[in-house]
Formats: sequence, structure tokens, C-alpha cells
Amino acid sequence: MKIEPLIPETAPFNGEQRLWLNGYVAGLLAGKNFVPANQNGSGKNAATIPLLILFGSQTGTAEKLAKQIAKESKSCGCNSRVVDANEHAKIDWSKETNLLVVTSTYGDGDMPDNAQNFWEWLQTDAAKSLAHLNFSVLGLGDTNYEHFCAAGKKIDARLEQIGAKRIHPLADCDLDYEAKAKNWTNDVLTAFAPEKNLTQRREDAKTVEIIESLRASGTLREEFSKSNPFPARLLTNYRLNSNGSQKETRHFEISLEDSGLNYEVGDALGIFPKNCPELVADILRALNFSGDEMVSLNNNGEIPIRKALKEFYDITKPSPELLKYIGERNSVLGELLLPERKDDLKKFLWGREIIDLLLATPEVKFSPDEFVALLKKLAPRLYSISSSPKTHAGQVHLTVSIVRHESHGRKRKGVASTFLADRAMENPIPVFVQTSYGFRLPANGETPIIMVGPGTGVAPFRAFLHERRAVGAKGKNWLFFGEQRVATDFYYRDELEKMFSDAHLTKLSTAFSRDQSEKIYVQHRMLEHATELWSWLESGAHFYVCGDASRMAKDVDDALHKIIETAGNKSADDAKAYVAKLKSEKRYQRDVY
Ligand code: NDP
Repeated sequence: MKIEPLIPETAPFNGEQRLWLNGYVAGLLAGKNFVPANQNGSGKNAATIPLLILFGSQTGTAEKLAKQIAKESKSCGCNSRVVDANEHAKIDWSKETNLLVVTSTYGDGDMPDNAQNFWEWLQTDAAKSLAHLNFSVLGLGDTNYEHFCAAGKKIDARLEQIGAKRIHPLADCDLDYEAKAKNWTNDVLTAFAPEKNLTQRREDAKTVEIIESLRASGTLREEFSKSNPFPARLLTNYRLNSNGSQKETRHFEISLEDSGLNYEVGDALGIFPKNCPELVADILRALNFSGDEMVSLNNNGEIPIRKALKEFYDITKPSPELLKYIGERNSVLGELLLPERKDDLKKFLWGREIIDLLLATPEVKFSPDEFVALLKKLAPRLYSISSSPKTHAGQVHLTVSIVRHESHGRKRKGVASTFLADRAMENPIPVFVQTSYGFRLPANGETPIIMVGPGTGVAPFRAFLHERRAVGAKGKNWLFFGEQRVATDFYYRDELEKMFSDAHLTKLSTAFSRDQSEKIYVQHRMLEHATELWSWLESGAHFYVCGDASRMAKDVDDALHKIIETAGNKSADDAKAYVAKLKSEKRYQRDVY
């Protein structure tokens, strides 16, 4: 393979360094695992330690991380393979020695869809064929959920139970998983490949340094990512509901021009929001701070606390550390923090935010640094993209439900949704593209698709429909959409009805839940069309669900099973197996939140 030089002649490197860097940078830019010239995998650096990396991933984050770990492990002398947990039956476990599991947790402490089969199998006696393995598990989760990292924890415990040897403790990573995942990877690879020589590690570090200096000098074009978000402009912001609606769902159009960012339909856009300035002011007042006090920011210098609270910290949900700090100084909260009062604490915290705790405990004092150290970092929010780059080049569209409500006598605002709705027109929005490997249109444009997307769940399906039209895909399209009222909440009605009238949208089934006395939901419409839906599935249709995870996705899943049982004339067990097969063939994909 011929590599065009990317490092300019004037850059301060010797011939060998330039040759090496040209190869490395070409690999980086191509997003491929390029092997630099002096490490061709043959001879003394040849990979020797077998390593199987199994991933359970719903949105693609765990899959991406597993691939990164594999890349890194190769430079440590490992011969690594990344395998989808769904493919576990194809693995000859007797030939494996070292196993890493990287998995997210889904829904209510569940396995991601692609790891469900593996988990069921792992609980059978057959899993004892894994007893000889060395293993370690990395779980991805969100501490805002009760069953934090439950999938990773369950797999970790079960592997130990069957006798496999844990070579490194489980890493339970929160939303800002990067640093913890990196430490775990280093530790695990050191455990697997202790002989990886120090010189090699130093060389790797030096390369990173050189690349960084190339970036800093502008020799390398900047790549925007989660760690380096693109400051995007908001072009359009309007409400999709008509007057009289009880909801506020908005359509946003954001410019990605000159960012170099690309996306595919099914991907999500990550947004780093800023907190509401009035809430920041209320918190500063409650703490008796002026806002100008300087606080240190993760060893990156000092900034005024007002800015820190606005841009860098979660100032709504109290962290366990903040609760503990206040509980140690306030007996009422202290009592509620006792392990046996868990349920009472949950009830007490329902609808309460940090500001409520501060106002209720004025005797508890903090220094500015102490206070910010007790907060969690402000995490980016992911929104399913509702446009196709083929029809809206240089733009990304979002369909977002805006959270505003009142609790305990205060008006509350969703951090990111109200940032977009109320405060993003004037200033750039830091954004990145989150690839969603597990939510994709079928490769074959002839394949029929069934899309179930009530509420904001319609977002990726608008993108799918635009994309299929743009590429001339001839496959049939069926959309189930639901909202409260047809008169006020039928998002993208004109577009959808037009697509239906010109037959691009083969079927449009709507469920308006509050237009009659009894609730009608999308799953009721699915059941009404059971025979037809079954025949679409039998003709190879892909089945997609997007929207609410807590109730809708479960009810739609139940309806799908019921349709397979009744229209497909199958037993409950056979229907379960049919759904499992749909999942393993990636014909049943979900993007739920
Ligand atoms: P919803 O999912 O709340 O509502 C859309 C439609 O689905 C409505 O007609 C609703 O009916 C109906 N519905 C309610 N329960 C079910 C069910 N079990 N099965 C099928 N349909 C049902 O729409 P949104 O898009 O606004 O919200 C989607 C999800 O996103 C919700 O879980 C919401 O809490 C969450 N969300 C999270 C935000 C965040 O910042 N984290 C922001 C906004 C939303 P009805 O209401 O009449 O019962």
C-alpha cells in the first residue's frame, strides 16, 4: 500500500520519524488500525497472547470501547479478537484462555439486547466450559439509575461462580467512563502481558506526544469528537405541538458546516449543555457565595465558581458524596441515609434537587472548592438524529421533548432540553456525533422495515424515511406513531402524510392516546394489524423501536411476542425463540431511553 506523505517536509522530524509518522497518521485519519512501519507484526514483536474481547452493546459505545481495547492490546503483544456477545455460540471455549467482557447495562438493569442470549446461556451448566478462563469485566452504566452497571456486575459474579479466574476487579464506569476505562485497560493488559517492554510503552507515549504537538501547531486538521466537541450553530428552533397541547416537543436544526463531522441515519448527536443561569444564581445565594470565588477545575487551573457551576458540573441531582456531606452535618438527612431507610430516602429525594437540600440545611457550610468537589461532572446528553445527511447536507436535526414541571413549589427545567429550547440561539453548542452501531437501516434497500416510534421516538424514523427516499430504496416502510392528540401533537404530519400519499410510506398507523376515553397506544395498533405485521416479518422485515424505555418499549415487545404467537401460530417459547432470532440477525433493533 502506497502512503502519500502527510507530514510536511518542514516539520521537525528526522527521516525515520517522518516515515513512521506518515504511516501512523494515515492510519489515524483513515480510522483504521494501521500498523506503523517498524512494527509489522512479524519477527520479535509478533503477537503471542490470545485475548478474546466479548462486547454487549446497545448503542455502540461498549462495542467501540471493546475495539479500542483490542487495538491497544495488540501493541502489548496480545492476539486479540473482538466478538459480539450474540455470537458466543460460535466460540470454541476450550481454545480460549483470556476473556475480557465489555458491556453496557440497558433499561432497568437488563443486559443489552445482543448480550441477552449470552447471559441466558451463561446461567446454564454449559457455561462451566468457561471455568478455565482468566477474565475481567468492564461495565458501562449511569449512576442515575438504581441498577447501576447491573449487566457487568452479573456477568462478573457468574464467571467467578463457575470457577473462572478474575485477573482484575470489575470496572463499573459511569457516564464519563473514559478515564476509568483507560485505567482498567492498562491494568488488565499489564496483568495479561507483564513482559510488554517498557521501551515500547515509552515509544507509544512519545508518539502520542508528537501527534499532540502536530495538532497544536495546526499541521494536523483538528478532528472533532466527544473530547473535543464542535462549537455548532443552532439554525432553527420551533415547537412541533400546536397551541392547546400539554406537551412541548421542539424541532431543532443545527449546522455542522466546516466541522468535518459526518453521521449516518440512526446515529445520535451528543450535546454538552450549560446550566440555567437563574438556578446557578439561586445556588450561589443559598451558599452565600458571590460567584467570583475561584475554584480549581480538575487540575486544569482555576475559574470563578459561577462559570464552574454553569458549564462544568451537574447542579440538579445531588450526588451520593454531597448527600453524605450534608447527612454528616444534618441529623434529618443523616437518618435518611441509614441503609435501612433506603426507600424513605428515595421518597424524600423524589422531585428534590440540590437547591432544595441547600435551602433546607442552611447550617451546613462549604468552602467553594469543597462544594464543587462534591458535584458530578455535567454529562453530555445524546439525542437521536431526525435528519438524513443526504437530504440536509451540513445539518443535523433533532426532535426533543422539553422538560418543564413543578415540584416542591419550584419550577424545574430539564438541563439540556431547556438549554436547547431557551438559551442556545446566542452561543455555540458543543456537539459530537455518537455512532450508533446497533441502529441501522438494512443494507439491502429492498428489505421492508417496520418502525415503532411514539412521541420523540419518531426522530430516527424521519431520518430513515428521508434516507431511503434519497437513495431510492424500494423496500416497503411502515410507521407506527403515537402521541396524545391528533390536533396538536402529530409531529411532521405534513411530511408523513405526503410520504404516505405518494406511497413512499407504505403504511402509517397512528395512536392518539387522549382523543378518546380509553388509552390507545402504538402496541394496540400493532395488535389490530397482527396478521399483516406477521407477514411483513416473514418476508424479512426489520423491526425498529424508538422512544420511552420504561413502559412503551416493554409493552411493544410484549405485543410483538403476542403477534408471533397468534398470527404466527406459535407457542410462547417458540415466539421467544423467534424474537431472539430476529435480534441475533439484527432485524429487531431498539433505541430507547
Ligand atoms: P411519551 O413516550 O411520553 O409519549 C408519547 C405517546 O406514548 C403518548 O401518546 C403517550 O400516551 C404514549 N404512551 C404512554 N405510555 C405508553 C406505553 N406504555 N406504551 C405505548 N405508548 C405509551 O413521549 P416523549 O417522546 O415526550 O417521551 C419519551 C420518553 O423520554 C419518556 O420516557 C420521557 O420521560 C423521556 N424524556 C426524557 C427526557 C430527558 O431529558 N431525560 C426529556 C424528555 C422526555 P399518554 O401520555 O396519553 O399516556
